[in-house]
Amino acid sequence: MTATARAPRATMSGKSIADSQFDRAANLIDLEPYMRRILGSPFREVQVEVPVRMDDGHIEVFTGYRIQHNGARGPCKGGIRYHPDADHDEVLGLATIMTWKTALMDIPFGGAKGGVTVDPKRLSKLELERLTRRFTQRISIMLGPYRDVPAPDVNTNAQVMAWILDEYSSRHGYTPAAVTGKPVSLGGSLGREEATGRGVMYVMMEYARDFGLPLQGSRVVIQGFGNVGGHLARLVAAEAGAKVIAVSDVDGGVVNEKGLDVPALLAHTAGRGRVSEWKGGTAITNEQLWTLPCDWLVPAALGGVITKEHNARTLACKVVVEGANEPTTPTADLILEERGIPVIPDFLANAGGVTVSYYEWAQNLQQYRWTHEQVNRELKATITKGYVAVRDLAKQRDSRVRDRITTGRGGGEASGQLGGRVRRRTEETAVENGGGHASESSTDARPPLTAS
Ligand code: NAD
Repeated sequence: MTATARAPRATMSGKSIADSQFDRAANLIDLEPYMRRILGSPFREVQVEVPVRMDDGHIEVFTGYRIQHNGARGPCKGGIRYHPDADHDEVLGLATIMTWKTALMDIPFGGAKGGVTVDPKRLSKLELERLTRRFTQRISIMLGPYRDVPAPDVNTNAQVMAWILDEYSSRHGYTPAAVTGKPVSLGGSLGREEATGRGVMYVMMEYARDFGLPLQGSRVVIQGFGNVGGHLARLVAAEAGAKVIAVSDVDGGVVNEKGLDVPALLAHTAGRGRVSEWKGGTAITNEQLWTLPCDWLVPAALGGVITKEHNARTLACKVVVEGANEPTTPTADLILEERGIPVIPDFLANAGGVTVSYYEWAQNLQQYRWTHEQVNRELKATITKGYVAVRDLAKQRDSRVRDRITTGRGGGEASGQLGGRVRRRTEETAVENGGGHASESSTDARPPLTAS
């Protein structure tokens, strides 16, 4: 596959996408100006330089971000992303969505996100470790189990979380609750790695039942075959009987109308094979992936991939399920609405990851371990409750699911969901600390170390 196998992304920034969704929702509920100001901007953000000694001895300097959008409901929570396109606006948009997501799931966290502008594929494992440790040092002033708890996101995984834990613990003592998505052997939760994909599947199951689109035998197309896309493909095929007909990664995809052999494809990619090189189907580009007729289309890679200019008018699916964060631009959203294609939005569809991160954090604080079955059972109950509340309010107000979730107003149980929860807690804390954390410990507030 050539570089053209990659699908184009919107030029609209992640922050603009989140702002547009927020404004639309805030207008619907006549949100007070001061509350718009608080919820429309981050509580605290840092940009850091991250000098890293490369294997050949020279030093490269990367740029990193940690942005805490809102901490009114609990410690800030959100992943860390390593990507060449990770910049301030992308990280801010993602941090904002985390506030809505944790509130909708009613877990005691606020929203945050981090990122380093880097192509990790260019780095050796040792360089990646040095980058992670240096980035952790630089942002450690913001972190802590009751302050801000990172997790994996694009191009980061349990190993990266283990380095973050080790670096944080070297200063503060062993603190497993300081980061989630860790290896199970270091206090990670059973079921965390697959949790986001599993949560997407649970939401699809509920929608399938409600809207008469059975998952069994249905055609599923997934863009992105990493943590979210890979686990989702495996689970919907194995546990819901769906036919995953196409998936893609950054270099292109593969299609098989009879249904892909997902375990075999996962074994191929685990051996560092590209999806498009797998012989169990026909190679396609990411462009072609969008045109495949299917029931469920799940973007599970990056933001801004469904756009007005590119593909919103030509998608051939019945439902879009946002496994990724911010995959659909606001104008594409409107086109899909016109075309009668529902969008199950990111902060509901992919909330399984942060939900099980909460279980991991709670297990760490209690020094107690749940079984995998218990994790899955609790996840299903929590995400289904979020889904039902949103569905009911959407029905009641005859409106788009995304607006309903974001505003959280309008009566019924769902009115206590996202908007209501963040608003209420933020109102209660705003005067004191602007929706963040009330206290700063002087030991945590030490300056970052200098470069080595
Ligand atoms: P990942 O790094 O594990 O996988 C990303 C996948 O997307 C890879 O297969 C990669 O090749 C593919 N990809 C990257 N750029 C692409 C492009 N331009 N076109 C097509 N495919 C491309 O990341 P992940 O953790 O699976 O995250 C995927 C999405 O899900 C992100 O939007 C992330 O923010 C969101 N998300 C992740 C979690 C989590 O727990 N990991 C939780 C909630 C939301």
